[in-house]
Amino acid sequence: MADEPDETEEGSWWDKPWPYFVGAALLLVVAVASQFEIRRPAVSFGTVEDLAALSERDDLNVVFLLIDTLRADHLGIYGYERDTSPNIDALAQGGVVFKEMVSQSSWTKTSMASLWTATRPLNNGIVHYDHVIPDVATLPAEVFKEAGYRTAGIYRNGWVAPNFGFKQGFDTYIKPLAGRERARIARKNPSGSFLAGTDEDLIVSAKEFLDNYGHQKFFLYIHFMDVHQYVYDNGAARFGTSYLDVYDQSIHWSDRLLAHFVEELSERGLRRKTLLVIAADHGEAFQEHGWEGHAKNLYREVTNVPFIIIPPFYIEGGIEVDTLASNMDLWPTILDLVGLPPMPHVDGVSLVPIVLAAGAAADAPSTEGLERPAFGQLNIGWGRRGIEPNPLIALQDGDLQLFYPLAKPERIELYDHSTDPGQMENVQAERPEDTARLRAMVDGYVASASSPWGVEPERKEVSELMLGQLKALGYVVK
Ligand SMILES: [Zn+2]
Repeated sequence: MADEPDETEEGSWWDKPWPYFVGAALLLVVAVASQFEIRRPAVSFGTVEDLAALSERDDLNVVFLLIDTLRADHLGIYGYERDTSPNIDALAQGGVVFKEMVSQSSWTKTSMASLWTATRPLNNGIVHYDHVIPDVATLPAEVFKEAGYRTAGIYRNGWVAPNFGFKQGFDTYIKPLAGRERARIARKNPSGSFLAGTDEDLIVSAKEFLDNYGHQKFFLYIHFMDVHQYVYDNGAARFGTSYLDVYDQSIHWSDRLLAHFVEELSERGLRRKTLLVIAADHGEAFQEHGWEGHAKNLYREVTNVPFIIIPPFYIEGGIEVDTLASNMDLWPTILDLVGLPPMPHVDGVSLVPIVLAAGAAADAPSTEGLERPAFGQLNIGWGRRGIEPNPLIALQDGDLQLFYPLAKPERIELYDHSTDPGQMENVQAERPEDTARLRAMVDGYVASASSPWGVEPERKEVSELMLGQLKALGYVVK
């Protein structure tokens, strides 16, 4: 069916008939998630040396929990004053928290393509609505599969669908059927978009996966969407009625769903041999720079994201990493941590030495060269037919961040986070040397840009209906 929004196996299932159970399973998810809260870690204590030794274990599962549209500064563990994330906070307190993590775009497809391939958008070229990650790329799921893991991805965002190249390496990659509607609130989000179902459908799917494959070594990716959609249920905390309040309510709801899934791992005896990774593809704006939503610019509210590693044990006091880091470093880091081979042709680096140094590990390796600038890109006009979009490049080096529309250098902006964390005062005119230095770095990236795989990105024919449905996922394209 050409007009389907993507080519997923929607409606298919793991290995057994399931629809008869989904109603009951959903009720169970809701009943448990509405009252569940992690108070104490259901794992034993470990040390930073145990973290370093994870690479030698051969029984380790990896679960990647990607929460679409989750900005870091709305989580308690990142200093938010509201109690949006008690469960994530409790888990993170015994894990590794990257305080300055930057996504490589504020639009899902470009950001996720960069995250999964560990390459800059300038190099991988996945910057337009019809671009596809080429088959020659090596994605982390392929590395896991090659190493004998059972691999599965469960998602609800059409921008990471198989037809855009995101399925590579996954034995199973599904968009679950929307479950039966029940009492829940989905406030109209700034984009006005609607998506059938909720993230409970992801959790039901994930539990089915554990039922079928939990006895094998596995890599499981769950891509949450309720924060993107401003969905919450009656059990979520109530913060108010503004977009920002309801966004926070949806974080609280997602936090409890996530905790429920972690509890499922514990009950199956899998928590003590599963590494959890929490991340996001971009943030969300609330009028900080005159916009709501995302995928319109690259300011901090739409690019500062969480990155939390939760080992299969609890590290007393946790480990906090202050070094500026990038989502394209995420998979080089995780693969290194669990002892798998690195992906070829990447721009990202493993941050494991920085983690071990931050945790004051004995014999921590050198961190030289790992403090690097953070790169961002959004091609303005990514959703329009027949035009080549204009790249907006962001470059953060220490406290300084440059925003550089390549076709309109006269509109360059420079901000100094040490005195202006909200990026309110453009100082490019007052700081010509800093502006020139960062601009030269960007020009260098542009001049040397080339495909990591030696090919241009493929372009996928996208019907008007499909494009309309995808754009309705959250973006009003001007
Ligand atoms: Zn997204």
